Parts: sequence; structure tokens; C-alpha cells
Amino acid sequence: MSFIKDSVNRKPIVDTVFVIVEAARQAKEKYGAENVSDAVIGSLYTEEGKLAAFDTVFSTLKSLDNTHLAKYAASFTGNPDFQKDANLYKEVIATPGGTGAVGMSIENCLEDGQTLIIPEIAWGSYSLMAQMHNLKTKAYSLFEGDHFNMADFKAVCRSVMEEQDRLVLIINDPCQNPTGYSMTIDEWKEVIAFLNECSKTHSVVLINDIAYIDFSYQGRYAKKYFTCFDEISENVAVVVAFSISKSLTSYGLRCGAAILLGKTPEAVQELKVVFEKTARATWSNVNNGAMETFSQIMEHKQDEYLAEKQKYVDLLKERSDLFIAQADEAGLKHYPYKEGFFVTLAMDNDERDRLHAALMEEQIYTVKVNKGIRIAICSMPLKTIDGLAKRIKSVQDSLSK
Ligand code: PLP
Repeated sequence: MSFIKDSVNRKPIVDTVFVIVEAARQAKEKYGAENVSDAVIGSLYTEEGKLAAFDTVFSTLKSLDNTHLAKYAASFTGNPDFQKDANLYKEVIATPGGTGAVGMSIENCLEDGQTLIIPEIAWGSYSLMAQMHNLKTKAYSLFEGDHFNMADFKAVCRSVMEEQDRLVLIINDPCQNPTGYSMTIDEWKEVIAFLNECSKTHSVVLINDIAYIDFSYQGRYAKKYFTCFDEISENVAVVVAFSISKSLTSYGLRCGAAILLGKTPEAVQELKVVFEKTARATWSNVNNGAMETFSQIMEHKQDEYLAEKQKYVDLLKERSDLFIAQADEAGLKHYPYKEGFFVTLAMDNDERDRLHAALMEEQIYTVKVNKGIRIAICSMPLKTIDGLAKRIKSVQDSLSK
């Protein structure tokens, strides 16, 4: 007998990050924090080792009238700075984080048993969401040399099209988690042209997960590729999954949005009606204080917020420049990094398992991902990053002897 319906996978989540966070904490207690390299934590930390929490954000939140914090939300009023002249129809649904936006898209756009297309190296929640909605996944290889693997992306889409009447795919860009890759405008153009082709026979939903976009090194140009979405055909919809978790350093406020884009008002309306009902039936409405903070900042404190954020973007760049330069000098292989919270070392899963364990013996704590090891430069101070790549390389070399 079971309390849970038969179709649900009951295997507990294996939380690989939590176990390592705990191991790193114990090591710091035993050996002293200065003797441990903790490359695990996936949130932005200051050089002093504290979780970064923007003053502009939390002073705004705390200055809100109690009634704002107490009341139900009316709607998501913030403007995620879209291209104003996009010739697309658009609707915004508030969600609890980017998680809510991605989750409700895959829940509503695929039938049970159909296949969701995801990147081969990716944020773990995509497969978990697919599992919970009885969906299969098929992964596209991310890279061919130092660029996006267009050939494999197309091949995977084509093979899924042979099995089902619709395509739903996730592209986590820019600042991909966990590789730090960002696609070029030309790569985006080719993806859209290809999806338009696919849409002649299949409906296509592109989920663009932009969780880390506000930490791009390209500043406002990071959003330039949105213009490629202007070219979508009628049978293509784009759901942009936006999150304030990283953008406002407010992971715990649980706020984000699904931005629905389509060529016709009918396409967008169809998505909106169903997403709205899903929201209502799942989480009802979204943290009003978080939404209010977001809109207050966008309306009244944008410059102050952008200046504060820029300091961290610059810091992240300094950290990644240092790590990448030293990795390249040491010959430590990594996936093509451009920007973002993580760098991922490239290797097969056998080597990954051995290296990950061996690194812990040297008090270097990292996270295993498919085909690699994730280095969280977002949480490591420069002094911890300095020399880390060389140390990792020498542990790696000692394994192959
Ligand atoms: N997408 C990616 C790639 C992420 O790494 C995360 C968080 O780690 C999210 C989306 C969603 O985060 P949240 O639900 O906190 O907005």
C-alpha cells in the first residue's frame, strides 16, 4: 500500500551539494577556514566571506509599509527591461523564483510521457521537474570546441520531433549554469531560424532561463539577443524565465516571472490563461513585498541599484579572470567560460569522481556535475582563488600517474 500515486518516482533527492557543504564546514572547523578552499556555495559572497545582500534592495524592502508586506499581491508590476520596440505580444506572470516559471512551463506544455529537451550539463532542477511531471528528458551536447554545439542541438530536436507533436526546450543563457557560457547573437539567430523551421510541423516552446543575466559582463548589451525573438514564427512561443534571486541577491524572497512572448495575441493569451490558473492552483500568488521592492527599485532607485550591482559584477569578473588565466596557464581544462557564477572543469564522469574525492583530501571542496566539476567563483574571495587552479591541476596529474 502506498499513500503516493503509483506514477510518481519515490526515490529521495540525492542532494550532492548539501553533503559537500557540510564536509567543507567540518573541514573549516578542523583545519581553520584559511586552510580550506570552499568552491561549493552557489550564491554571491563578498571578499570578507559574507553572503552579498544589496543595501538598495534590503533598505527598500524594510522601508515598505507593513500593509505592503501583509497583503496579497495584485500583479507583478516590475518591468524586466525588455526591448521596448519588440514587435511581439507579451504577458508577464509572477512566479516564486525562476523555478516557478520553468516549472509551470514544462508542466503545461508537454503531455505525460513526452520529452523535454535540456542541456547536457545543466542545473539539476530541470530533470527533477521533468520527473515530477512524468516527462522524459533528452539532452543536447553544449559545446563543439569553444562554441555552442549547434549540430547536436538540431539533431536532438529533430529526433524528438519524430516521437511527438511538439517541442519544448530549455536554453539557459546568458551565463549558463554551470559552465558560464553565453551564446553569441549569431548562435541565437541560428537557433531561432531552426526553431521556425521546426514550427512548420510542430508547435515549439522555447524556455529561455535567464536566471544569471544581470551578472553578465556585457551590461545592457546582455539583453541584445532578445531582438532575435522578434523573428519567431506564429507557431513558436518563448517563455523567458526571470528571477530576482540573483538579480537582487534575494534568493529567499522567492520571486520571479514567466515572460510570455508570441507572434500573435492568441498565442500569448492561451499561455497566459493556463499559466494563471496553474499559479492560482499551486502557490496562489507571489510574495508582495518582493514584488513591491522590485518595482520601487526600478522606478525610483535604478541608478543606485545598478551602481551597487556593478561592483559585484566587476568583482566576479576579477575572480573569473584570475581563475581562468591561472587554469589556462596550468593546463587545467575547462568548458568555454564567458561570464557568470561558475566555471566548470571538463572531464568524463569517471575522472570527475576520482578527482572530486582526491581534491577533498587536499581540503578543496567542489561540486560534481555531469561531465565536470563546478567551481563556484561567485562565493570565493580572490585570495582563495589565487593558486587554486594550479593546485587542482597537480592533484589531477597525480591521479594519472
Ligand atoms: N535557473 C538556474 C539555472 C538556476 O541556477 C536557478 C537557481 O539556482 C534558477 C533558475 C532559479 O532560481 P530561483 O527559483 O531562486 O529564482
